[in-house]
Amino acid sequence: MNAAPADQIRLLDLQAIDAKLDQLAHKRRTLPEHAEIDKATADHTALKSLVVAAEAQQSDTARELTKAEQDVEQVRARATRNQQRMDSGSVTSAKDLENLQHETGSLAKRQGDLEDVVLEVMERLESAQTRVTELTARLEHSTVVLEEAEARREAAFAEIDVEVAKVARDRETVVAVIPADLLKLYTRLREQQGGVGAARLYQRRCEGCRVEFSTNDLNAIKAEPKDAVVRCENCGRILVRTADSGN
Ligand SMILES: [Zn+2]
Repeated sequence: MNAAPADQIRLLDLQAIDAKLDQLAHKRRTLPEHAEIDKATADHTALKSLVVAAEAQQSDTARELTKAEQDVEQVRARATRNQQRMDSGSVTSAKDLENLQHETGSLAKRQGDLEDVVLEVMERLESAQTRVTELTARLEHSTVVLEEAEARREAAFAEIDVEVAKVARDRETVVAVIPADLLKLYTRLREQQGGVGAARLYQRRCEGCRVEFSTNDLNAIKAEPKDAVVRCENCGRILVRTADSGN
């Protein structure tokens, strides 16, 4: 393949531009915000489940309290009814009175036990409410942390994208004047060779693979016609000769 020396030099400009674009893409992919956002998202998700579980616990306990209070109310109502019957004088049989009195005593004991249950459930409800409050506050904080990291990532993206757009415009200008077959070869080599398709021959070295040429090899390369497209024997990249190729 042949190409004017000036076009070969332009290939080095294109290579520099592509390297810059690769760098920017790498920077975009590896922003520290990505890891921060992953962590903040995981924290947020975990806290959300904890809040849901704590809220379920709270409503279960609230129902339990209602039930325990109803139990107390039932026993209290029954004791009141017994008392009213005894006070009314409608129970005349000594045996019946004795039974009623006995039941009233049992009911008082039962009411006391049930009231203890109410107190115990109230304490648990209070703990459940405290836990919901704490976890909700932590969840809100985690939302803020996540949103802040996302905002910082967006800002970093925007900054990188402005630079990418600028470099891409430079690329268009350079690409427009490079012959199609040379550009095609460069593009293929760039894909195969880790992003570097064209390398300068600088002071006896291929700047693509850093190999240093012997005097014989160097002389052979330099003896090629100026418009010959030379390839590095070691890495296969397009080797662009310049005034600094060495001797
Ligand atoms: Zn090389």
